[in-house]
Amino acid sequence: MPPIDESQIRVILLDIEGTTTPVDFVYQTLFPYANRKLESFLREHSQDPEIQSLIQDLRTQHEVDGRNGLEPPGWLDNTEEARLCSSVVYSQWLIARDSKCTPLKSLQGKIWQEGFMSGELRGEVFPDVPMAFERWRRQKRIICIYSSGSVLAQQLLFRTTSSGDLTPYISAFFDTGVGAKTEGESYKKIAASFSHAPHLFFFVSDAVKEIRAAQSVGMQAILCERDSRASSSPTTGGVIRSFDAVLPD
Ligand SMILES: [Mg+2]
Repeated sequence: MPPIDESQIRVILLDIEGTTTPVDFVYQTLFPYANRKLESFLREHSQDPEIQSLIQDLRTQHEVDGRNGLEPPGWLDNTEEARLCSSVVYSQWLIARDSKCTPLKSLQGKIWQEGFMSGELRGEVFPDVPMAFERWRRQKRIICIYSSGSVLAQQLLFRTTSSGDLTPYISAFFDTGVGAKTEGESYKKIAASFSHAPHLFFFVSDAVKEIRAAQSVGMQAILCERDSRASSSPTTGGVIRSFDAVLPD
């Protein structure tokens, strides 16, 4: 890995999970919240056309699972209440199997959105993140995010942190709409959207494959290891444990 040339850095591109935000936030906060709210959310919104079509998508998925011999719990459509209960029980069954099917993901997304909006959920960032945003802005550098979570979810997370709304610091949000995070082409597209050469970008992530993809198109990049127990970094370049080390004053 070539040495980092700080004077060249105009745009700082950040991963979220494991970089700005503890991985635990997803598994200890977001997922349990969606599980807890599942039934009340579906009940409350069962008349919304959007949720009715989501329940229909769950019903379709249920048939697919049945055909594939996965033996999902029974589904009844004879009354509205039976259909609602069936959708709750089936969703819980999907969660227990750690399913990533689209209707479940979209249901969880809607529950999180409501949680962030109501203030019951708050975004979490490592303590050095707000200070780094302030510092990089003072240095007139552009900050943007690239995460596999949807742009809406990214914005909700940064809008509701305990340090306040951090979205005014962030110039752009990218999700997998530009492509996978392990593909060089995605980083090329991001650079092109700023009309900046890739070497003016500095990408920070906890995933070695993502770092390599960014470097493959000429971006500067560094691995972020928040967990000090992990020390098996296979990259030859530097590793940071906190944003304090990234472009200090
Ligand atoms: Mg990550």
